[in-house]
Amino acid sequence: MTEHTFDAVIVGAGGAGLRAALELAGQRVAVVSKLYPPRSHTGTAQGGIGAALGNLEEDYPEWHTFDTVKGGDYLVDQDAAELMCQEAVETVYELEHWGLPFDRTPDGRIAQRRFGGHTRNFGEAPVRRACHAADRTGHMILQTLYQQCIRHDVRFFNEFQMLDLLVDEGTCRGIVAYETSTGELHTFHAPAVLLATGGFGRLYRVTSNAHALTGDGVAIAWRRGIPLMDMEFFQFHPTGLYRLGILLSEAARGEGAVLLNRHGERFMERYAPTLKDLAPRDMISRVMYQEIRAGNGIDGKDFLHLDFRHLGRKVLEEKLPDITEFVRTYLGIDPAEQPVPVVPTAHYAMGGIPTNNDGQVIVDERGTPLRGLYAAGECACVSVHGANRLGTNSLVDILVFGRRAGRHMAAYLRQAAREPVMVNPHSTVEAQLREWQARSQGEPPARIRDDLQALMMDKVSVFRSGSGLAEAAEGLRALRERYGRARLDDRGRRFNQDLLEAIELGFLLDLAEATVAAALHRTESRGAHYREDYPRRDDAQWLKHILVYRGEDGRISFRYKPVVITRFPPKERTY
Ligand SMILES: Cc1cc2nc3c(=O)[nH]c(=O)nc-3n(C[C@H](O)[C@H](O)[C@H](O)COP(=O)(O)OP(=O)(O)OC[C@H]3O[C@@H](n4cnc5c(N)ncnc54)[C@H](O)[C@@H]3O)c2cc1C
Repeated sequence: MTEHTFDAVIVGAGGAGLRAALELAGQRVAVVSKLYPPRSHTGTAQGGIGAALGNLEEDYPEWHTFDTVKGGDYLVDQDAAELMCQEAVETVYELEHWGLPFDRTPDGRIAQRRFGGHTRNFGEAPVRRACHAADRTGHMILQTLYQQCIRHDVRFFNEFQMLDLLVDEGTCRGIVAYETSTGELHTFHAPAVLLATGGFGRLYRVTSNAHALTGDGVAIAWRRGIPLMDMEFFQFHPTGLYRLGILLSEAARGEGAVLLNRHGERFMERYAPTLKDLAPRDMISRVMYQEIRAGNGIDGKDFLHLDFRHLGRKVLEEKLPDITEFVRTYLGIDPAEQPVPVVPTAHYAMGGIPTNNDGQVIVDERGTPLRGLYAAGECACVSVHGANRLGTNSLVDILVFGRRAGRHMAAYLRQAAREPVMVNPHSTVEAQLREWQARSQGEPPARIRDDLQALMMDKVSVFRSGSGLAEAAEGLRALRERYGRARLDDRGRRFNQDLLEAIELGFLLDLAEATVAAALHRTESRGAHYREDYPRRDDAQWLKHILVYRGEDGRISFRYKPVVITRFPPKERTY
């Protein structure tokens, strides 16, 4: 057991964590990450970061805010969205000044492309707002931020996995982490902690998310009594590679690729006459399943086509090189010659740990902060995405709110009391590890994980119903029982992935429970949460965020946080 003392600890080295760390450079700050930082998921973001630079056509942060609010089906907190869309502009220029190699217009300005749901003049027509570096935008952002962190001597603890959060009398006091290479526990004492641990797409069988996206920070916060917000909203991205779920970014449709059914029909024209294939993701994913259910899948099967053929080889190789390569590698198809089989894929968690606009974690509907604890990025819920995130808005979110959280932490540290270190801070984790090490009988956790992912895909994905969700809740109880009897194959100390995956499965089970509970509770359809038994949006009853709590006795309860509406009253959502 090793003890460390820092001013601030940041858990997660993706875009949100690294951006926050830069605001704390100069203080004693540690970044703790279960992955080597450049392997964080931000690096896979393809299509772009949204900012109303107006480089190719007229654009304003107000239009960006409107699109964000409408895209989120009016569940977005509009004060937060206004901040995000305004600060997006300076955030992108900041990255440019740090050397990020954006694509350029012929006159040398940052190039911008179209993306789903982004419009000019409050919904009139698509606008070019996504700033990009080919289809490797996230990779470039992550490398740029990491270089800046190295330059500012930020201290990294790589391949250290947080397993617990230290909360004592309403104050966060640090974390406990497991060092993968040794199996040793480390306690990090610090008056300020930021959770930036990313999303949890691994809840689902078909997903664009990598193996590591198991929502650790979100689940650990929930275990420590912190509520989760907007958990019923999980985004399915329309274009995942058939059967694999690997993402083909919206940049593809931004550059002109179109969706086709078995009749070669560009079916989105029927459903969204103005934006067509660039309608928001929740709408397109639903329409795709409707087409498949109506027998319009390719050859009557359960997939559709994304057609790039008319774009020509030059556009594919210069603007979409990674996507082109994925299609060739994983399906053996040349997208310049053949249409590509696609299906919706689980992509993004709109819900997570509730925060205010400075990244402080809040514990109730009145916005009461938990002293010393912050969250930013996909694990957090500000809420700027409401019921459905627009493409390019996560990269903005992680940078704008990562920066705001880092700044607030720096100010907080100037007046925060340095409490005495806690006694036995690692006891909960130690007991958990001992229990796992003792288990040599039972089934392997991997089988339970497969069943969990299949259950979530079947009952809690694009279409939901009260009866299906009740079956999911029942199924989860059975999975939890099996989990309580699961065994480890590897009971060694060093690089014990078996152990860590078993622990991560516990996090996923918790997050599934929160998701299903909130989805059952919300008896309406809004954004990514579509209930076949309640197909309409119900503003009178449900224009509010659900905070879901789990008590020490395991009981779930709900509270409601009002949606902040500043300029845009809810309207019917047509595209
Ligand atoms: C394929 C793909 C393409 C995308 N394209 C776009 C796009 O074009 N535009 C856009 O806006 N958004 C895009 N997104 C979404 C966006 O990339 C992510 O939402 C965003 O990058 C998340 O950043 P983050 O900093 O919150 O988390 P991440 O980048 O996921 O980082 C999480 C960090 O937390 C660490 N961590 C996790 N658990 C623990 C633990 N227990 N202990 C210690 N460390 C831990 C990890 O090591 C990692 O460093 C895309 C997503 C995917 C999957």
